[in-house]
Amino acid sequence: MTDTVTEAISPTVMLDLSAVRARKGLRDAADLLAHVRSLVPPSGTQRPDGQPRSKQQGSRLPFREDALEESDSVYAQLLDWTRSWADTLTLPLPITAGYAWSNQAGPQGFRSTVTPEGAHALTANLTTWLLLHDDKIRRHPTAGMFYEDVADLMWNLSKKFPRESRGMRPVLPRPCPICGDPSMGVEWRSGQLLDFTLTCTYCGFEGDTTALLQDRDVRTLMNDMRIEEAPEATSWWTKKQAVREMRITPQTLNRYIQRDGLKTHTADGTVYVNAGQLRELWRGKRSRNADARRPSLTP
Ligand SMILES: [Zn+2]
Repeated sequence: MTDTVTEAISPTVMLDLSAVRARKGLRDAADLLAHVRSLVPPSGTQRPDGQPRSKQQGSRLPFREDALEESDSVYAQLLDWTRSWADTLTLPLPITAGYAWSNQAGPQGFRSTVTPEGAHALTANLTTWLLLHDDKIRRHPTAGMFYEDVADLMWNLSKKFPRESRGMRPVLPRPCPICGDPSMGVEWRSGQLLDFTLTCTYCGFEGDTTALLQDRDVRTLMNDMRIEEAPEATSWWTKKQAVREMRITPQTLNRYIQRDGLKTHTADGTVYVNAGQLRELWRGKRSRNADARRPSLTP
């Protein structure tokens, strides 16, 4: 996006977008921290004994030496924000805010005995509290700083410890202009606030992010965005799946294969079709139909 576009976006819209991104990060935090905690090497919690366990040798599990430190650091920062907002807004702290490993400098992370499930529950307690008080936080002058920080924390942690799951994503409360499905999801491509895509998960239509940010109702749209689990990225469907996913008839699917060159792939006697290409074909036909219908709609 160019600088002129950035200048044209009002600061309130930027703050709203920043809030959406932070909400996504907070909704994702418990899963992400549990994931990172599950990568802590078993000897990590027994460091005081010094002896690595020979039993773990040859283990193919992807343990990571930095998982302990990174998850502790992110949890401590979430705890810091929770305490700071409780203080600023004079709200009672969630009870679990006391379950941490602390020293004179304040909370340093989870207690060393925490399990991934425990890390999930503790994190969810903080993030639920932060999300619950979001309306009050947003009215405070330092809200922007908090949103930026939370988004950075989560973005960096998810890049360091990638998961199979695509995590949470904000979904626009408005139907896709091509298929009408309310599945227009926002996904960030980098840590930059304006570097995001607006894509329909149903048909793959890519929306115009600039137009979205300049929409007359953009504030309402941002505030009504819901955060939901991003669907898995599938590349091949069985024919049965394709018919169900795209809500087309088997005859239509066969036509796509025979006349429109939809690629198939056969493995163990099952025929698969390329999901991306099918979406593209379907979308192409759909938008041509929409164009053909349009003149009749205007008197
Ligand atoms: Zn669509």
